[in-house]
Amino acid sequence: MEQVTKRKSQVEPRQILVPEDLQRVIDDLGTEPTECMLCGGAQFTALFERTGKKFWECQGCELVFVHDIYPEFIDDTDHLDDTYHFDRLAVMKPARAKRYATLLDSIEKERKLGTVLEVGCGQGLFLEQCRKAGWEVNGLDVLPPVAEIARSQRGLEVFTGELHEAKYPDASFDVCFMSEVIEHIVDPVNLMTEIRRVLRPGGIAILVTGNAQSWSAKWRGGKWAYYRFGGHLHIRFFSPRAAEALAEASGFESVTSETRGFAFQEAAEVRGKWYRPFAQVTQGIVSQFAGVRGAGHRLRMRFRRAEE
Ligand SMILES: [Zn+2]
Ligand SMILES: [Zn+2]
Repeated sequence: MEQVTKRKSQVEPRQILVPEDLQRVIDDLGTEPTECMLCGGAQFTALFERTGKKFWECQGCELVFVHDIYPEFIDDTDHLDDTYHFDRLAVMKPARAKRYATLLDSIEKERKLGTVLEVGCGQGLFLEQCRKAGWEVNGLDVLPPVAEIARSQRGLEVFTGELHEAKYPDASFDVCFMSEVIEHIVDPVNLMTEIRRVLRPGGIAILVTGNAQSWSAKWRGGKWAYYRFGGHLHIRFFSPRAAEALAEASGFESVTSETRGFAFQEAAEVRGKWYRPFAQVTQGIVSQFAGVRGAGHRLRMRFRRAEE
């Protein structure tokens, strides 16, 4: 059993995430989408229902999303730091360090040492590794106790709050990294437009999230673990095609996507089952093909701001 410590913080709920007139927003949104937030399309497919919410897919750009996110989204976001795993995300495991090193190598092919901003930097493991490699680093996180650990234990420059609150000057960063964040964002175009603004011309933004068009997502449907609404809210689900719509809507010159991974079931579901070793071997093989076909369940999008 993994030991997980959850710690409560004494902070006020973050007002910024709550629309000023919540009831009006709920009324305006209605129960069904009318216009896609990425491509402006108006045709949607209702995929399934989970936790009492419909999950929609835009027929234009393949974005999958929950439309009527309130009021559950606010209640849940207020308690985000209850669901944050302090222990699990506090130490650099070798596999993670290797993943980060590979990522940095791929960044450095395009962009030699400069300034990195991590949005949702957590306790600062990635930024610390960037700093060791010679980058200048900046981070921000909405969870005060987490940002505090990054500052006090790692001596990192970390802003507590959302990106637009940090008010960074135009063209401040060469690289922006965002892992497991975009699926929680109400208005992803707004956030990416702000990221584009703070990036230097030719700068890149790397986002990691789940792939809603992956074989895992298709196979599992509404049971796919990433489609969780409640407990730790995910509301927007991207894919290589949705990435293109996001890039276009927020003014990036281009985006490339890479995917990897496949699972018949979540690790917790197969634990102790007789077929687990067989499932693992098969999954490994299917994963190889999924990655090649852009159908892996982990999606890495790389947005590029045009040179000027
Ligand atoms: Zn769309
Ligand atoms: Zn998440």
